[in-house]
Amino acid sequence: MATHHWWILWFVSTPLIIAALGLQNRRDAYSCHICRARKDLRTRSVWGVPVQQAESETVPGNPEIAHRHDWWRYSFAYSNGPYGTLGCGAACHTEGRYKDGVY
Ligand SMILES: [Zn+2]
Repeated sequence: MATHHWWILWFVSTPLIIAALGLQNRRDAYSCHICRARKDLRTRSVWGVPVQQAESETVPGNPEIAHRHDWWRYSFAYSNGPYGTLGCGAACHTEGRYKDGVY
């Protein structure tokens, strides 16, 4: 009788564990060197499939410049697994926050 319960537990928990192992949170930071705008893109994905994405503008930039933003990624950070238990890292351009080298 008791062994049946273990099987149920196994069937329920295994997909959850597999999903948790493939969890990744990442933050990409972009800048536009034309108007000095900056934005953050936060993505949550499971095994490379984005499940949640949030974009926020940290610096609005100059609205008087008529242009299409030339987004350039100057840094990113990521963490793998639940609460970053499977590793995390970050990288950024040291020469500046903008494409033209201005910090
Ligand atoms: Zn721009």
